[in-house]
Amino acid sequence: MKMSASAHKTFYLETFGCQMNVHDSEKVIGTLIHEGYEQVETVEQADLILYNTCSIRDKAEQKVFHRLADYKKLLAQGKKFGVLGCVAQQEGEKIFERAPHVSLVCGSASYRNLPQMLTQLNAPEIPRPAGENAGLRDDAPSKHATLVRITGLDDRETDECFETEFTARSNPHRGYITIIEGCDKFCAYCVVPFTRGKERSRTSESVLAEARQMADLGYTEIQLLGQNVNSYKDPTGAFSGKKKTFAELLAAVGEVHGIRRVRFTTSHPRDFGRDIVEAIDAVPALCDHVHLPVQSGSDRVLDAMQRLYTREQYLERIGWMKSAKREISITSDVIVGFPGETEQDFAETLGLLDEVGYDGVFTFKYSPRPNTPSLALDDAVPDQEKSRRLEVLMARQKEIQIARYKKYIGTNIEVMVEGRNEARAQWIGRTSQNKTLNFTAPETTTPTIGSYVQVKATASFPNSLLGEMVV
Ligand code: SAM
Ligand code: SF4
Repeated sequence: MKMSASAHKTFYLETFGCQMNVHDSEKVIGTLIHEGYEQVETVEQADLILYNTCSIRDKAEQKVFHRLADYKKLLAQGKKFGVLGCVAQQEGEKIFERAPHVSLVCGSASYRNLPQMLTQLNAPEIPRPAGENAGLRDDAPSKHATLVRITGLDDRETDECFETEFTARSNPHRGYITIIEGCDKFCAYCVVPFTRGKERSRTSESVLAEARQMADLGYTEIQLLGQNVNSYKDPTGAFSGKKKTFAELLAAVGEVHGIRRVRFTTSHPRDFGRDIVEAIDAVPALCDHVHLPVQSGSDRVLDAMQRLYTREQYLERIGWMKSAKREISITSDVIVGFPGETEQDFAETLGLLDEVGYDGVFTFKYSPRPNTPSLALDDAVPDQEKSRRLEVLMARQKEIQIARYKKYIGTNIEVMVEGRNEARAQWIGRTSQNKTLNFTAPETTTPTIGSYVQVKATASFPNSLLGEMVV
């Protein structure tokens, strides 16, 4: 075990946002532990307090500043604060102005440099010059602050991914593998290309090596991650004979000995090829679930969003999935209230929900974000109207899900056992289609967490199924 200058330090890390952030945090935790840090459960126990942040919507961004404000008094106890992730990249050094007790600001493309940054952070402190403290109250956080301000913000043009052998996965049965980082799509509303940098794929060899290593450790489920996994382009040399398309990589991960389930998220409709459905048909370990965000059912809005596909092209992809050998569960993301979205545009989105028959939809009110092209668009939809559309959309989708979930009653479905709900005396299971199927088991049987069992569905709800274990 490596012992560095930062040995015996403790850290607390809170994560906001998407699965990419959750997995980045697992890598950051692994890196810090390797650097001699110990992870602790509370802010009070920690020497270093880190927030891995999300800036996809304004609400998400505000959360981190509230957290920083809540704990700034702890600076007086010598604790250090760091902001990681998308808000760090987006706001950069402005964070030091808004929250002067922060010492480290680091975007996700710079995590490779964390060990060096930690060394800098732990270098002997330089007291703030007296002049800088003039006029500050004794309890002002910046009075106790030092000049140690470390930034990792310049690496968005890197070709390298954040690969680490030290990932600290929190679940011993299913785990994430990043296959592609960044995004080159530049949808009009989205900050991701500005915060996560340009698209870069890992080699298929390194992805497969990680998958095999996880299988050896006992993992049976793998989720391949990326902003757009299906834009994956294997950077392996063209003549190595090992260069894989996304569908080939998916199939290869599904064939790793010991892996029973492979999921992937998110897919972008423009790069969604029929070969992905063919891979699902051919390899039983590939889960029968695809998350394919549509954002809007109106061509006019899709065009303004710069989504690079039409409603018809999107529905063509849905058609491929509907003709698959196994029933593929389809889920999506929808934004309501994009600038200029009319009642007619919105009606087209509602119609699309009926036409596709999604098993789940993440719904968002459009939130104007810094740097994005849609900031310049006129015709904002009033917030009250956005809220109304959101409610209408959610109510319509709920009806669709009630009908869709009902049809599983009476069928036997395999679940991975994920946990136990003591209050309800139920086990928590997840199907290959990514549905929650809670179940009871005979008193004589105790299903093992992480095992796979057959469950007969006996009742349905809009977001889950209930059943009895088949013994
Ligand atoms: N790359 C994925 C794609 O293109 O579908 C999704 C990435 S994004 C992290 C997840 C979702 O957040 C998007 O699908 C979109 O619905 C939503 N989103 C992104 N920017 C938004 C904004 N400015 N306002 C509201 N929702 C937004
Ligand atoms: Fe954002 Fe569009 Fe890239 Fe998805 S594809 S991350 S929505 S810019």
